[in-house]
Amino acid sequence: MMIYDSLTRQKRPFEPLVPGHISIYVCGVTPYAESHLGHARPAVLWDVIKRYFIRRGYIVHHVQNFTDIDDKIVARAQDLGISVTDVAERYMKEYTDAMNRLRVLPPDYAPRVTENVTPINQFIEELINKGKAYATSAGDVYFRVGQSPGYGRLSGRQVEDQRVGVRIESSEDKEHPADFALWKSSGADEPGFPSPWGRGRPGWHIECSVMASRYLGPQFDFHGGGIDLIFPHHENELAQSEAYWGVSPARCWVHNGLITQGSIKMSKSLGNGISLRELLDRVSPMALRTYLLSVHYRSPLDFSQDALEDWSRGIVRVWDMYERVKDAGSPSERLDQPWAKRLESFEERLLAALDDDFNTARALAEIYEMVRDVHQGEASGHAETAHGWARINILKADQVLGILPWPATPRSLEHDKLLAALLSWRQEARLEKDFKIADRIRVVLSQAGWTIEDTPRGPRVVAKEDV
Ligand SMILES: [Zn+2]
Repeated sequence: MMIYDSLTRQKRPFEPLVPGHISIYVCGVTPYAESHLGHARPAVLWDVIKRYFIRRGYIVHHVQNFTDIDDKIVARAQDLGISVTDVAERYMKEYTDAMNRLRVLPPDYAPRVTENVTPINQFIEELINKGKAYATSAGDVYFRVGQSPGYGRLSGRQVEDQRVGVRIESSEDKEHPADFALWKSSGADEPGFPSPWGRGRPGWHIECSVMASRYLGPQFDFHGGGIDLIFPHHENELAQSEAYWGVSPARCWVHNGLITQGSIKMSKSLGNGISLRELLDRVSPMALRTYLLSVHYRSPLDFSQDALEDWSRGIVRVWDMYERVKDAGSPSERLDQPWAKRLESFEERLLAALDDDFNTARALAEIYEMVRDVHQGEASGHAETAHGWARINILKADQVLGILPWPATPRSLEHDKLLAALLSWRQEARLEKDFKIADRIRVVLSQAGWTIEDTPRGPRVVAKEDV
């Protein structure tokens, strides 16, 4: 397994901190407005990384936070005339809904800043005790960058550059322009929390140092986020965590490239962000998912509607094939032909692509290659064998990359057993002419997103489209 680390700027062999376990911290969203396309890329990337490690047999611990208190949320709450909590709740739900539509598995922990203020205060106090931070008379606390010898090595910036690189906070009390806020005092009409330095709220960077170590320990395997977070967010986080724990927090920093439009960064603040919800209403979420995976994660993805539509057509061919082969039996004959050999070893190549710095573009190419091999098998008169492999291989690809639309996704065995039990209960009720119960079962299933179809071979349960 070879993975590129942004800190050492090298692709190198990766060994997890604890054998058999993978720990991941990814910077989450600040819920102050609707999610846009830029949020989907890291989410889908980390979802695939997680599924890949699970398939490789690891136990994965994944933490992704919500920055649910921030200047942007405060401003938004004032605009909308609602509370800061209501703004954060509204857009956290909106983000989570979009992620569900993209089949992104939820993180194991999704901590919020507002639920971590006490540990944040303890962390800051300890940094002050160690001489790494200082409080000002105005009630702000700053990190002392000059006390952090390795500062700048993640972003490649020198502390002397910071004068131009950082938006200088309007505090006369800062010892050095590069020092950054750990705690900001709140005005009387702003939300705030009590602290040893007066009422205020945490700075942006400190939350991630605290929540990552609180849930994963001082050291963990991967720290993820967009390349735009390297400076100042991750540089500052690295400095804080090292100052507190004495060790570098992440063994590997993984940064995804940004989504651009005509090579300009797509972002809400630039006004060219594409609303994720609107996009998901227009295109299939799974087509968007594969489109996001079609470019290596470290490269920028220049969004184009035409390219997205091309990918939609491509992935539909895989779905069509799955529809044709989903009832195929296991392949029973072993053939010596090249297409058959390739179908047998498909999953090895799929995982090998991901072993190489999570090369999802190559993994997708393997799927299309596999579809061509199935066609060759059909043409050479071995459709049954080819279809058996096609079913197995598409499901294996789906397990790691998530390519099938929800209704086509096979249910778990437990699921099937439960549905079968409900169906036989309904059949029994109908035989006993207890139509009230029979109808009630139909309604309950319908509310859960299932429809009962009566076919000549008996009733069956199908998922409603796009539940
Ligand atoms: Zn962060």
